[in-house]
Amino acid sequence: MMDTQIFSCIAQPDSGTKFAGQIVRQGGLVVFPTETVYGLGANGLDGDAVKKIFEAKGRPQDNPLILHVARKSDVKDLWLRVSDITRKLMDAFWPGPLTLVCQKSSIVPDEVTAGLDTVAVRMSSNKTALALIRAAGVPIAAPSANTSGRPSPTSAQHVIDDMWGKVDCILDGGQCAIGLESTVLLVSKKPTILRPGGITREMLQSVIGDVDVAQSVLSPLKDGETVASPGMKYKHYAPEADVIVACGTLMEMAGIIKREYDKAEAKGKKCVILASKETQSFYRGKKYDIIGSATEKKDMCANLFSKLRQYSDAVDVIFAESVSTDDMGLAYMNRLLRASGFTVLTE
Ligand code: AMP
Ligand code: MG
Repeated sequence: MMDTQIFSCIAQPDSGTKFAGQIVRQGGLVVFPTETVYGLGANGLDGDAVKKIFEAKGRPQDNPLILHVARKSDVKDLWLRVSDITRKLMDAFWPGPLTLVCQKSSIVPDEVTAGLDTVAVRMSSNKTALALIRAAGVPIAAPSANTSGRPSPTSAQHVIDDMWGKVDCILDGGQCAIGLESTVLLVSKKPTILRPGGITREMLQSVIGDVDVAQSVLSPLKDGETVASPGMKYKHYAPEADVIVACGTLMEMAGIIKREYDKAEAKGKKCVILASKETQSFYRGKKYDIIGSATEKKDMCANLFSKLRQYSDAVDVIFAESVSTDDMGLAYMNRLLRASGFTVLTE
């Protein structure tokens, strides 16, 4: 067990960031808030420091990390070149929840990219994250600060649950505003969303025109299939409980869920329904929790991981409703389908 120090950055965003920056420079591990989820960071130019991230998370070695920078100009050292499209995207969406994947330069260690010749880079808008990276004076390699496979942490309590004693320092920035990880975009001739997030396909298209979505975003990988983003290979975001997703109109989903809930309960299973404001009245007499309004997908995204964590050990089955895949719905369904292992029920 390591000694873990925790700082509250809620009232004062740069609290503890000098200390934490020093730890990063010395090769240690620091958890920090971003607008998406909490990150588990180490010196992104130090392969040995980066290895510790994989150990603390239990992350498969072939899943590359994102480098976090504090200034747009920092990308010059990390990418071979910055294309016009890349520049446009950085100008439109940085700082913010957009990660860009481009050809890497030789200073980026293989431990970060899992041996790929590209590297993913992002500039967060979170003040604590930016202060930390500036204090460290190096790009910070950081995946989400959860134990590999579990839902990403969106509060300091989630981080404490997974990382206490495994990291040198935790910067507590309160609740993460977006609550799902960044959009990962492969910048190539045909820009492709490898992972949907807070910057939507529609937003990207308004700046650079047509944008593809990788097939793995909404469907499971077939055996032996190669994948542009190695992270999509793994069972992800999964609570202990089974997750079952219903598809259809609101009425159809409510019908499916009520029927399956009764069946599961008859087998002695504890269940909960992640209902929307619009469907809650259908579930009277059953255990349900409101994840948001079906017309406010942002709120549903912000609550998803924390609800999955909350019910992970508390119930046997979590029932959830699907949403349409426009705007933030694409990111929501990507995470929900993966959490369920693609367990989907339709009428
Ligand atoms: P995490 O930081 O845990 O949110 O995961 C980072 C995500 O970005 C994973 O899904 C990775 O597979 C993906 N990623 C990181 N670097 C690259 C890269 N060079 N090419 C493609 N995907 C990447
Ligand atoms: Mg992650």
